[in-house]
Amino acid sequence: MGPQSRQSSGRLVVIRGPSGVGKSTIVREVLKRREMDFSVSATTRRPRDNETDGRDYRFVTRQRFQEMIQAGELLEWAEVFGELYGTPAEPVERAIAAGRTILLDIDTQGALQVHRKMPQGLFILIEPPDNKALSDRLAKRGSDGPEQVARRLGEAKKELATVGESGVYTHRVVNDDLATAVAEVLDIMDRELEVDD
Ligand code: 5GP
Repeated sequence: MGPQSRQSSGRLVVIRGPSGVGKSTIVREVLKRREMDFSVSATTRRPRDNETDGRDYRFVTRQRFQEMIQAGELLEWAEVFGELYGTPAEPVERAIAAGRTILLDIDTQGALQVHRKMPQGLFILIEPPDNKALSDRLAKRGSDGPEQVARRLGEAKKELATVGESGVYTHRVVNDDLATAVAEVLDIMDRELEVDD
């Protein structure tokens, strides 16, 4: 079986990294190369230009989000940069029950909640090579104003400082070079996801 068609048993994979670390690009590349589901989060924030409802996020109103919380539809949820983000539980449960791997791109608060419920998941932290690279990437993205960039950078630094002590992440990948980072993530997945087949 070639690497392109390799399929793992049903596991949950959390990829976590601060804003601007290149995480969504890595996630996209990984999804192209391995057969796995992607958990489409619900969020109250507005779509960016390149985003599609139902593919990148389910864009919902605050009221709808509150209803989802109340109805117990979310595996975890958190407030990030003043907006609500949450993982719909059903697709995660369905994927795992069917023996498929599902990838979650969520923040640290979310990762902690998921870790409590599903510690057997694979938790990968993506880190920037240094703070300069992180601020450059955030500024270059251009979808956020300077104030938002500064805020995201502050949050990112704070987060990287505390996240190491959380005990959640078993794997760390420094995103110095995109292709290398993608290869490292794939390597971790191939090694870890095949163990308990
Ligand atoms: P962005 O607005 O840049 O797409 O995402 C902002 C942050 O929210 C990122 O760190 C992203 O990982 C996180 N995020 C996206 N979806 C979820 C989710 O369902 N739950 C949690 N807890 N965080 C999420």
